[in-house]
Amino acid sequence: MKQTVVILATGGTIAGIGEEGKTAGYQPGTLTADDLIRTIPEIMELAEIETIQICNINSDDMTSEIWIDLANTINRMAERPEVAGFVVTHGTDTMEETAYFLNLTVKTDKPVVLTGSIRPSTAISADGPINMYDAVCVASSEEAKGHGVLVVFSDRIFSARSVSKASTYHVTALSSGELGAIGVIRDGKVFIYETPTRLHTVSTEFSLTGLDTLPKVAVIYFSVDSDPEIIRYAAEHTEGIVIAGAGAGEFSEEYKKVIDRLSVPVVVSSRVDNGIIVPENLLCRNTVAANNLSPQKAAILLRLAIAKGAKAEDLQRMFDQY
Ligand code: ASP
Repeated sequence: MKQTVVILATGGTIAGIGEEGKTAGYQPGTLTADDLIRTIPEIMELAEIETIQICNINSDDMTSEIWIDLANTINRMAERPEVAGFVVTHGTDTMEETAYFLNLTVKTDKPVVLTGSIRPSTAISADGPINMYDAVCVASSEEAKGHGVLVVFSDRIFSARSVSKASTYHVTALSSGELGAIGVIRDGKVFIYETPTRLHTVSTEFSLTGLDTLPKVAVIYFSVDSDPEIIRYAAEHTEGIVIAGAGAGEFSEEYKKVIDRLSVPVVVSSRVDNGIIVPENLLCRNTVAANNLSPQKAAILLRLAIAKGAKAEDLQRMFDQY
């Protein structure tokens, strides 16, 4: 008997429609999950498919309320023995954020695989159908179990923690930089060569019980002469701050003077793509090192930590573990 793969559709370019043949100026989040699978009949040979339309949006409009609904839906459906895994279709702009959120909050070792496309469904050589087919292959495979949430894009399999969008236009836009892909898909066969070592899914301390939204935090990007007033504003209007510092999480003396006096949690990440920030790099004693998490991923871990009521002394431990 074929196992079931549940496709949870959220929108993005993979569901986008535009001028025939063109790659820009289209409307993302237009086609439904059922429209998408109708164009790829080969998917039906891989598994029984169930579809759920979670939302149909440009992924820049993603919210923590939708994240929580998505994670709760996966957690509920994962209890059904005939469900082998999940595919989440998603816009590429914030795919890495949703993937990392799910990596910390879904409580199953069944594969949860995000995919999308760079070209809308109406473009020449649209990349959505092959990415979707590959994602279903991975979601229904035994090999993909237990590696945390995955992103499948342009023949490759990435871990949720390390993946990011690295090009605005190229079909290989999703990448894990110097850490690389953990596997590949060739003609429907799944090959996984590495596994993430940081805690994920069933091994995390994060639970969504009783939550319908996440606390807000601000991500502040440092650049030459940037006015630290924005930090004071963020401290008054949000529950935490992530600084995208220069180099190994550095910033000006002006920034330092303001950050030194803050009592809200401040996590220091870097605006540099490949790098690592350890506590020894920190310029202010009241801050936490994001290790190699990007600012936008550090913001997710900080939001979950604050929602859990983490104390200042727990935060560095969390950033060292997740
Ligand atoms: N703006 C689109 C989105 O993130 C881009 C894409 O899907 O590639 O929804």
